[in-house]
Amino acid sequence: MDATLHLEIVTPDRTVASKPVSYVGVPGVEGEFGILPNHVPLLSALGIGDLYFRCEEKNNEPWHVFVSGGFVEVSGNRVTVLAEAAELAETIDIARANAAKERAEARLAAQGENIDLDRARLALHRAVSRISIAGLV
Ligand code: ATP
Repeated sequence: MDATLHLEIVTPDRTVASKPVSYVGVPGVEGEFGILPNHVPLLSALGIGDLYFRCEEKNNEPWHVFVSGGFVEVSGNRVTVLAEAAELAETIDIARANAAKERAEARLAAQGENIDLDRARLALHRAVSRISIAGLV
């Protein structure tokens, strides 16, 4: 059996990665899990965090990608990630993430009546995660 996985990471506006890989680590909503070749078929919801994969193009060093929301499907040695947002670590705009973090922190600190706390917490989670993943490269 072919022992190479094919990874496809797509968002509503673009393909972020399309590569042969040997491993994918996924931030699922219920925790992290790993996908090796010949994995059983799977459909799982994505959380917010670091999806990383190993491929020969990078000498099997982990290649980190920020992902936020969506689904991952494994079927027949194909891993398809349909993410609401995804950025390779080296393309994350750190200044933008810092600004998003400050906005979210200010909203949470204000605690006013018109503040959607869940939305602010999610924005903060995305920003902190982007900053931390950008620091991995
Ligand atoms: P912001 O308030 O800065 O838009 P956000 O967390 O609300 O941050 P998202 O809704 O997750 O942003 O993403 C909207 C789009 O902007 C997506 O295409 C995402 O890839 C891109 N994006 C958001 N923040 C960054 C960043 N720091 N670096 C690169 N792309 C980003």
